[in-house]
Amino acid sequence: MTTLKDLEITYDKPNWCPGCGDWGIWISLKNAIVQLGLNPWEIVLVSGIGCSSKLPYWVKTYGFNGLHGRPMPVAEAIKLVNHNLTVIVVAGDGDQYGEGLNHFIHAARRNVNLTMMTHNNQIYGLTTGQFSPTTDIGEKNKATPVPTVEIPISPLSLALSAGATFIARGFMGDNKFQTELIVDAIKHKGFSLVDTMQPCVTFNHKNTFTWFYERVYKLENHDASSKTKAFEKIQEWPLCYQLKENEKEKIPLGIFYQENRPTWEEGLPQIAQTPLAKQSIENRDISPLLEELM
Ligand code: SF4
Ligand code: MG
Repeated sequence: MTTLKDLEITYDKPNWCPGCGDWGIWISLKNAIVQLGLNPWEIVLVSGIGCSSKLPYWVKTYGFNGLHGRPMPVAEAIKLVNHNLTVIVVAGDGDQYGEGLNHFIHAARRNVNLTMMTHNNQIYGLTTGQFSPTTDIGEKNKATPVPTVEIPISPLSLALSAGATFIARGFMGDNKFQTELIVDAIKHKGFSLVDTMQPCVTFNHKNTFTWFYERVYKLENHDASSKTKAFEKIQEWPLCYQLKENEKEKIPLGIFYQENRPTWEEGLPQIAQTPLAKQSIENRDISPLLEELM
């Protein structure tokens, strides 16, 4: 049985800022792994670049820290080679919804059986606070002093329209709830997104823990099997550009949408039965292929 101690590394400690939402995601993820009873050697955490992307370094599973915006193709390749592994993409909003947006959309439509856990702090934290694709309109800060005129993207609507089969939003003010979402997302067979609101206490002075506590609520009596109902709920936020004076956003948390659909790996006849990593590479004559290429 896996314990929290089994997931601890001894050679280093996380260096996120005190109070950063990344700490909570790190703890929730480890709790979820323990609850699911997954073996650390059967898990791969894949990340790109950003504060959040340092997470795989501090959990004793397999990990891959790659290029900015590119965790998804690496994660998909890992699933192709050995789809028995539990693969979790750890990405920031800048990383996955900016540079990596196309990879996210295509992984969702393919229904690759992996979990994408986005640390969404609505800012580029590692590079001191530039606007990200999820920054609210009208925001300005030290790094970008001119207010943004761009409306934020809605990762959940993108996921829904692209064909993701599990779509959820979490918030790092509630570790227990976040753990439950990660557990459900990993258990789900198919592409699962847990977009997690993770306040950057150092550079985002608007979307703070207090700001979220005043706005979040949990989905109740929501029909997660209906795309129409999911879209209605997803549309509640972000809508900052449509708010009237003194009106506050309402930010729903929980599972918006879930459906069962064959996964990418199941649809590929070459690997549907046996993972590539377990297939024999002996006695394969590739000379006809080489001749064709000559
Ligand atoms: Fe967290 Fe922001 Fe500090 Fe990065 S800069 S560790 S996101 S608080
Ligand atoms: Mg960010």
